Amino acid sequence: MSEKPKLILHVCCAVCGAALADALKDQFEITLFYYNPNIWPKEEYERRLEAVKKLSEIYQLNFEEGEYENELWLERVKGWESEPEGGRRCPICFEMRLEKTAELAKKQGASYFTTTLAISPFKDEEGINAIASRIAQANDLNFLPLAAIGDKKDLWQKSRLLAKQYQLYHQKYCGCQFSLKTTSKK
Ligand code: SF4
Repeated sequence: MSEKPKLILHVCCAVCGAALADALKDQFEITLFYYNPNIWPKEEYERRLEAVKKLSEIYQLNFEEGEYENELWLERVKGWESEPEGGRRCPICFEMRLEKTAELAKKQGASYFTTTLAISPFKDEEGINAIASRIAQANDLNFLPLAAIGDKKDLWQKSRLLAKQYQLYHQKYCGCQFSLKTTSKK
């Protein structure tokens, strides 16, 4: 039986997941959790899913897929469709994914959870930490912030190197149909 504490690592994509899986694998018994109902279209969701499964095989980690609740996600962000990436739609998107991660942690008896969401330089680390800490407190869990794992810039660079090394799929936009539209306009 493993003596390491259990941790649920919410993974938005394999590229961002690589450095965190690498950094945490010796310290925790990790389950990679792919719950990303924001990702659109479904083919893109599947592509990222396959890459995360590949990551779990490389590091021999447990893997769980959440439901693809894209309609529910659309309902939750209703009214904020025209917001830019980083605007008011994103905290709702983060919250939905982190709530489900905490739910899985409780179900699996894991006392820790964390996420890849803050690793990208485009993402609001403080905002994500605030949402995750609130969810952790409400569920009597421990949230591991990115700063407790390593330096954001170093982790981001390491992730990109590992993704290259393992030939992990690298997406070109954040995930939702609204971010796809704004990214294609750039
Ligand atoms: S831009 Fe990214 S974080 Fe923001 S709502 Fe869309 S998928 Fe979620």
